[in-house]
Formats: sequence, C-alpha cells, structure tokens
Amino acid sequence: MNKSRHYDLIVAGGGVAGAAAALEAARAGLRVALVEKTIITGGLATAGLINIYLPLCDGRGHQVTFGIAEELLQLSLRYGPGNVPVDWRQGGKGECHSRYTATFSPAAFALALDEALSKAGVTLWFDTLICAAEVKGNRVTGIEVENKSGRSLFTAPVFIDATGDADVAHYTGAECAEADNCLSIWGIEASLQAARKAVAGNSAEPLLQLF
Ligand SMILES: Cc1cc2nc3c(=O)[nH]c(=O)nc-3n(C[C@H](O)[C@H](O)[C@H](O)COP(=O)(O)OP(=O)(O)OC[C@H]3O[C@@H](n4cnc5c(N)ncnc54)[C@H](O)[C@@H]3O)c2cc1C
Repeated sequence: MNKSRHYDLIVAGGGVAGAAAALEAARAGLRVALVEKTIITGGLATAGLINIYLPLCDGRGHQVTFGIAEELLQLSLRYGPGNVPVDWRQGGKGECHSRYTATFSPAAFALALDEALSKAGVTLWFDTLICAAEVKGNRVTGIEVENKSGRSLFTAPVFIDATGDADVAHYTGAECAEADNCLSIWGIEASLQAARKAVAGNSAEPLLQLF
C-alpha cells in the first residue's frame, strides 16, 4: 500500500451529483478530494452522451431548478453550442405548457466542469478506482483506491458516495439492492446535412441531434 492521504471530505464519483457536492464543499472551505475512475467529469451526463437537460420547469412554465443545479446547467452551455430557453432565461414566469429543455455538448460540459472544480480548489483524482472501504466501528474511515501509482488509502471524517451505484456502501458490506442493468441506445448523430444546416443557421445546435 502506498502512503495514505487525508482530506476534510472525499467525494466518490465525479458525475453531476459528485461534482455538485465537491464544488459546494470546497467553496465552504473544506479540503476536498474527488475520486473518479474514468478520465472525465460529468459521469453519465457527459461520458454517457446524455446531452439534454429536461425538464427545467414544472410543465407550466415555472422554473424549478435553482442553485447548484442551475449553475451546472449554465456551465454545460458555457462553451456552447446550446441555449437556455428564452422564457426560462427570463425567470421562468411564462405560461408555457411544454417542458423546457436545453441541449449541450458533453465535451464542452466536461471542460467547463473541470475548470469550475479546479477553480474551487478540489483535488481531482482521475483514472482512480475505489476498490475497498476501511470501516472502524460503524463509520467509514477510509477508501482504498487503485491507479497507476498502485494502491493508496485516502482517509477523511466525511465521505459522499456519488458513484451512482453505491460502490462505497457496497465495499463496507452494507446491504445494497441489486437489479439487472439495461442498455439504452442513445447517440449523437452527425451528418453532412446537419453540418450544412449548422453553417446556414450560424449555430452548432443541429449537430447535437439525438437518435
Ligand atoms: C438515456 C438517459 C436519458 C436521461 N435523461 C435525463 C434528463 O433528461 N434529465 C435528467 O435530469 N436526467 C436524465 N437522465 C438521468 C441522469 O443522466 C442521471 O440521473 C445522472 O447523470 C446521474 O448522475 P450521478 O452523478 O448520480 O451518477 P453518474 O453519472 O453515474 O456518476 C457516477 C460517477 O462515479 C464514477 N464511479 C462509479 N464507481 C466508481 C468507483 N468504484 N471508483 C471511482 N469512480 C466511480 C463513475 O465513473 C461516474 O463518473 C438520463 C439518463 C439516461 C440513461
């Protein structure tokens, strides 16, 4: 085992949930580590090519996402393409009966998310797999992580399990529900026709079409 590292708070998993938790904790002055097994932040929303935020309203035109959720939406659009719906941008006070949505580029979102986390002072551990938990009494006191440097122990008084499938809880031996995984076919279509439309309209949005 390599040397251990200590933080005030460790977030397991760098998806949107983990990134939101790490951002808020770091801004509150804590020394935060974010441990992510892939090499990209955003989790399913970026690596899984989920390139659409919906719903942004209650179906009647009233804004329902605020705070860090709203900030992440804005981050996803920082480097474009994509726009917040006009009504929602004006405070979501209209009477629209459709669900407001905003599409974003997963790559642009991951870039903006990385920048925000770094700016907040979060220590990012990419390509680092959480593979065991240290438990003393009834508390999690550490996680064992594995990367190219070998295996290390990361300790902290507080952990947030944002792995999407409760990996930390599972490694403590806690009872976890199990279910079958399912595959959803979800892709971004790029075509010459869409590229022409983007050029003609001076907007890259047609390049974010899903199929
Ligand atoms: C087809 C589809 C469409 C969707 N559309 C919408 C939508 O329109 N609106 C909406 O609100 N939601 C939507 N969702 C759901 C939404 O995408 C997810 O709920 C959300 O992205 C989950 O975020 P998360 O951070 O909780 O988990 P995840 O994104 O799963 O993040 C978990 C992170 O933890 C990391 N990790 C896991 N295990 C370990 C480990 N052992 N060690 C280190 N790292 C680990 C993973 O690599 C990942 O980065 C959709 C989902 C799908 C599949």
